[in-house]
Amino acid sequence: MGHDRRVPTPPPAVPPARTAADAAVQCPGCGSVLAALETTAPEPPAAPTAACARLFEETTRGLRDEEGADPRPAATLALAEAAWTAQHAAGAGPDRVRAALDALATRTASPPVPEGTARPAVWRTTIADVAADLDVIDLAVLVDSWARAVLQDWRRDAAG
Ligand SMILES: [Zn+2]
Repeated sequence: MGHDRRVPTPPPAVPPARTAADAAVQCPGCGSVLAALETTAPEPPAAPTAACARLFEETTRGLRDEEGADPRPAATLALAEAAWTAQHAAGAGPDRVRAALDALATRTASPPVPEGTARPAVWRTTIADVAADLDVIDLAVLVDSWARAVLQDWRRDAAG
């Protein structure tokens, strides 16, 4: 005699919902909100997020590849590195930020940022904006306007 025993199938497990807030991190340096990267190392507070550092590396990779053949990519890369460093003061330290601000002023022929100026709280342009416009605008043009915006943000706070 058969014994037909039906076991009800349990409903499939529902994965926890991932919201945009779970997947995105805001960079404490420049304020860019970027998709979080899977990292093994804990990120120190106030340092650039791994996502922001990665985006900078990816955006400027073409300049690194071209370096050597033509002086212009090297100049654009140096300006981009100065702009990024000037927005990530906590990760870079005061000496590197000072050097970055001086490089920005020299390379854009702008007045220098006064010594002792406090780091700006908000930024008009970040690497995320540069990366977003890269398909339609030349990187050298984007980096130049980014560098000028970073300097202006620093000087605006200096002026009060
Ligand atoms: Zn950042």
